[in-house]
Amino acid sequence: SALYRIEGWGAPYFSVNDSGNITVSPYGTDTLAHQEIDLLKIVKKVSDPKSVGGLGLQFPLIVRVPDVLKNRLESLHSAFESAIQAQGYESHYQGVYPVKCNQDRFVVEDIVKFGSPFRFGLEAGSKPELLLAMSCLCKGNPEALLICNGFKDAEYIFLALLARKLALNTVIVLEEEEEVNLVIEISKKLSVRPVIGVRAKLRTKHSGHFGSTSGEKGKFGLTTTQILRVVRKLQDSGMLDCLQLLHFHIGSQIPSTTLLQAGVGEAAQIYSELVRLGADMKVIDIGGGLGIDYDGSKSGNSDLSVSYGLQEYASSVVNAIKFVCDRKSIKHPIICSESGRAIVSHHSILIFEAISASVPTAMNPVDLPFILEGLSEDARADCWNLIQAAVRHENQTCLVYIDQLKQRCVDRFKEGTLGIEQLAAVDGLCDLVSNMVDASDPTRTYHVNLSIFTSIPDFWSISQVFPIVPIHRLDERPDVRGVLSDLTCDSDGKIDKFIGGETSLPLHELEGNGYGGGGGANGRYYLGMFLGGAYQESLGGVHNLFSGPSVVSVSQSDGPHSFVVTRAVPGPSCGDVLRVMQHEPELMFETLKHRAEEFFGQDHGDEGTYAALVTTIARSFHNMPYLVAASPCSLTA
Ligand code: PLP
Repeated sequence: SALYRIEGWGAPYFSVNDSGNITVSPYGTDTLAHQEIDLLKIVKKVSDPKSVGGLGLQFPLIVRVPDVLKNRLESLHSAFESAIQAQGYESHYQGVYPVKCNQDRFVVEDIVKFGSPFRFGLEAGSKPELLLAMSCLCKGNPEALLICNGFKDAEYIFLALLARKLALNTVIVLEEEEEVNLVIEISKKLSVRPVIGVRAKLRTKHSGHFGSTSGEKGKFGLTTTQILRVVRKLQDSGMLDCLQLLHFHIGSQIPSTTLLQAGVGEAAQIYSELVRLGADMKVIDIGGGLGIDYDGSKSGNSDLSVSYGLQEYASSVVNAIKFVCDRKSIKHPIICSESGRAIVSHHSILIFEAISASVPTAMNPVDLPFILEGLSEDARADCWNLIQAAVRHENQTCLVYIDQLKQRCVDRFKEGTLGIEQLAAVDGLCDLVSNMVDASDPTRTYHVNLSIFTSIPDFWSISQVFPIVPIHRLDERPDVRGVLSDLTCDSDGKIDKFIGGETSLPLHELEGNGYGGGGGANGRYYLGMFLGGAYQESLGGVHNLFSGPSVVSVSQSDGPHSFVVTRAVPGPSCGDVLRVMQHEPELMFETLKHRAEEFFGQDHGDEGTYAALVTTIARSFHNMPYLVAASPCSLTA
């Protein structure tokens, strides 16, 4: 497990058991409630056709562990509570979950349920997110905040005011100055007293990728001049008491507590100025940014790593706010944070299969005379030189001759004077020699039953690296190094960057062809992508019409190693994903069936073949777009 730094990024939730499999411990490994759920057991159970109500889920698969969500929420809350106690802070912490991080219904519902003892609320950044937050929070939890961020039109503001009418603790956070006019106008029409917040553009700038929207020139929020104009406008309308919250967000993955304290300190000054100007300030909302240590290095040196834990984060925030408020002698505000990544990243694991691996090309030495026979004089000379350099182990010279030989042969092939068999044989010779001389890079390509564009979009779009590890066979030394290539017909569909700055991943030899053979996993090889519970599911697209994964939720049951599958949802089918692009699978099926009828009507086969063909077409619409182990014939059975 040291090879994959599991301890660094995975503690306290992920570790390796005596069977060499990755386990999830929702409450950490050091607690009395210590439980370990073996990921391979989950995989075997839910993919077995006789299990989960006879579903036999297809891969890729997301395993959700709601208890991990619960633990994240409880840990965040208790980190703030202990900082508040330790520093004598005279108010409380009450967070919100930004639904954009993962809008899955059950994730949001679980967060609302687990968070209700701590008045945990939701943050929305668009109208559909607001609608979902309104309906989820309606189920109890009246004190929980409903923070309305994002650019707003009259309809958004109307909905937010309606939410307040429905007794939800809604705050409309002004993201643009003009929004205040709409809030004043619509709240008067609806006779609702709004609670208003302003999002401040801070001067403190987060320099990482996720901070590109922070700073004075950032995309979001109000400048000090704009904040002052809003204050005046609210005052003129007799609504300054409605201004109760100050919000800022300096970007996701804040790398250090030094930067965090600088941002929070600056915001606390603005907060105290708003108090001085007569607003009825109650809450400081420090946005998101609580980071995840994806590479387990705790270095804080890149977007991949942060140098602090939950406790240091909470203590720094409380300290920075208290320091400013005490100096200005103002009441300590309620502290709200909008941590998303830190809450949902750990709870979901994406599991996918490696289905085959490239094998180094070998060449039969008796082919040599055959190669030489068809070559031009200079290519023949390159060939001999190459062989002699290989015998003398002159690696650099070999590489030069390989380039030269290949180029000459490709030129002749393009001219039409070299046959395809000869070109292939030359390629084989070159591969053989490069494998001999370049033993330092025996990197293989593992083909995985996955679309990176759909399931790990941040890798493709912003080069975000996630920990990827085989979920079993970790008691065996991985002998191979590999990169992962997905199913899409796209050269970007490969993963060749891993945590720790590695360009390949230690992997095990596949047993059989990955779709058969013996062993604890029936010859299959399962990899897990960890810490991907935030943003990946909603950002993923349908490139090549690959769709989302199957999803299961797992909870621990009685014994320390037992679990129950509480929810199992097959991934979208080919029909579902076709529908997303406006195709009509039912009509398409009818068209194909009609074609088949015409064909068989002209005596091209018997009734049985016709029926099997139509069943196969129907099943193809019904199945997920990913590869399945069975052949089309057995699918029709
Ligand atoms: N709040 C706002 C306004 C955001 O834009 C974001 C995301 O960037 C978040 C909260 C969540 O941030 P994070 O996932 O880093 O906690």
